[in-house]
Amino acid sequence: MSKKLQAIRGMHDILPDKTPLWQLLEGAMFDVCKQYGYSEIRMPLVESTDLFCRSIGEVTDIVEKEMYTFEDRNGDSLSLRPEGTASCVRAGLEHGLFYNQIQRLWYQGPMFRHERPQKGRYRQFHQIGIECFGMSGAEIEAEVILMSYRLWKKLGLESELSLEINTLGTSEERAVYKETLVSYFNQHIDQLDEDSQRRLTANPLRILDSKNPAMQTMIEAAPRLVDALGDDSREHFEQLQTYLKAAGVGFTINPRLVRGLDYYSHTVFEWTTSSLGAQGTVCAGGRYDGLIDQLGGKKTPAVGLAMGVERLVLLLEQHEWEVAKPLAYIVYQGDEARAKALQLAEQLRDELPNHGVILHCGGGSLKSQFKKADKVGAELALILGEEEIKENTVSIKFLRDSKEQQQVPQNELSTLLSNYG
Ligand code: ATP
Ligand code: MG
Repeated sequence: MSKKLQAIRGMHDILPDKTPLWQLLEGAMFDVCKQYGYSEIRMPLVESTDLFCRSIGEVTDIVEKEMYTFEDRNGDSLSLRPEGTASCVRAGLEHGLFYNQIQRLWYQGPMFRHERPQKGRYRQFHQIGIECFGMSGAEIEAEVILMSYRLWKKLGLESELSLEINTLGTSEERAVYKETLVSYFNQHIDQLDEDSQRRLTANPLRILDSKNPAMQTMIEAAPRLVDALGDDSREHFEQLQTYLKAAGVGFTINPRLVRGLDYYSHTVFEWTTSSLGAQGTVCAGGRYDGLIDQLGGKKTPAVGLAMGVERLVLLLEQHEWEVAKPLAYIVYQGDEARAKALQLAEQLRDELPNHGVILHCGGGSLKSQFKKADKVGAELALILGEEEIKENTVSIKFLRDSKEQQQVPQNELSTLLSNYG
């Protein structure tokens, strides 16, 4: 017997009962982006593997063990994108979007990482991302944080999410700090797990991010990057905090928030929730002034964030949401009535463009058609029977309240319905 066909582990269908929440989130973000004057960019799902190695870095979880990499038919190494920033920068460089320009961009779509699937962690997941280019002040960092905050407020999630911020300073400051950190970790080398020992030379900052419980006390006591910063970096970070306070956004400073990638500088931040277990980070971002020249462009300041759509939808699922229901379901009997009903449905969609109108398709008794009308949650059934056809009328049956059935002239129907619901 042939094997049952099913989706790939960690890659999910988003079924019709869930898509309304996705649309709610995407629609709200779409509105926010419009309000702040951001333009959408759409990039391919597949890029050359080299792009991710050069941007995300060889010594990161993503590149070391999570990428879907394969050989194209002509032998090139390609990868499914594990995130959007690298692709966005590649696109910007390729099309000259950065040259003496300010860009405020956003994108959305699937990302791919070969991780162990669990609640809130999948192999195909979706991100909504923002990337800004050409602005070096803390105000643009505040702006992208405020955009996410505005989105939480629109969705009623603001009380469940907390903001953590940190600064990584400049790459020069980090280089000095790295030496201090490496010598500290060397003093405690026996406490470092295998991953951390490997990272000690390649990416020591990432060790601060370790979730290994056995290493926590030692990490807590490590020297802090904030103490190694120069005046400019300190001031930049202070400035951001002032902006956030003035805008009424609460935050905590988490000195262990490092985001592990070499191209980050100055501000990094994360929005987290305690109600999704270990997968509590729903949005993460920061400044990455180093990336564009790292990929061959002119040095360009950049700030961005990425939200995990599945995790946000999991949060939204914990709330009650009203799903929009159709206004009317048209039922009828006979061939002539069917043709009329099709016409009536189109007419109503012209006249009441903001309401759902469903035409019954297929046969069945009126009784079975009413059942279908009820099942889809329609407010009203519109009936085209013999009598109605003869008299150019429609009968309205109220499915959600006990009002008497009513027969009205067809040309008065839409005015009547526009006052309904
Ligand atoms: P984590 O520490 O949870 O692995 P990350 O640092 O790898 O997250 P980022 O690369 O910063 O994640 O991606 C931004 C956001 O995308 C995350 O905060 C999260 O909400 C979401 N995300 C990342 N990986 C996954 C995944 N495998 N499945 C679902 N959502 C994800
Ligand atoms: Mg990860």
